[in-house]
Amino acid sequence: MNSEQYRQFKDSLGSNTTLVAVSKLQPVSSIRHLYNFGHLDFGENYVQELIEKHVQLPPDINWHFIGHLQSNKIKYIAPFIHMIQSVDSFKLLMEIDRQGKKIGRKINCLLQVHIAKEDTKFGLSEEELDEMVTGITHAAEMNEMNHIMVSGLMGMATLTDESAVVAAEMKYLSVLYDKYLHVQTPNFHFKYLSMGMSADYKLALKAGSNMVRIGSMVFGERKQLS
Ligand SMILES: *Cc1c(COP(=O)(O)O)cnc(C)c1O
Repeated sequence: MNSEQYRQFKDSLGSNTTLVAVSKLQPVSSIRHLYNFGHLDFGENYVQELIEKHVQLPPDINWHFIGHLQSNKIKYIAPFIHMIQSVDSFKLLMEIDRQGKKIGRKINCLLQVHIAKEDTKFGLSEEELDEMVTGITHAAEMNEMNHIMVSGLMGMATLTDESAVVAAEMKYLSVLYDKYLHVQTPNFHFKYLSMGMSADYKLALKAGSNMVRIGSMVFGERKQLS
């Protein structure tokens, strides 16, 4: 993408939509290229790769973690991560809070909900989400978990050409999002509905997404994991 194409693409998303450029498996030079257009939000899936890129790139980048995160790796990204979008258990959230406390940071999190047909995709079921919200808001009342801020939901729709299937899954996530919009505590306040990737971001925006995570469309095809 040249700067003109980038501008046009950003404009097409609308001013209320955050574009997270998914840079997993893309070289540092590609991130720098987009950064030079003024882009600050980048998404990464792998802890080791993120750490290596973070040290080579400007400190004002907003790094979003969007891959499956293991509890024992949180400590490596806690000092600088802008948002962890892939929180899929209460245990993980408690550990993020614990690491945030150690370094005096309040860490932004999204709860990842399982909306796709494929069972390979991670995420909470609706029941688990309901339990999590109760647990989080209860912890706020108890003055526990002061080092997380749960600011929305993230989901990935089924990878299929059937747009009706994708639209229905996205609608489902947006209904869950609306369900908790009114809940506001010191560590819970929804602002972001993160859904939509290169193939389905238009459907996502129609369904109410205000944060899209776009990789290949912005950077071109990425190299394969060997
Ligand atoms: C890779 C990835 C994306 C971006 O996918 P593209 O098809 O390249 O746009 C978005 N979200 C998550 C969670 C991903 O892992």
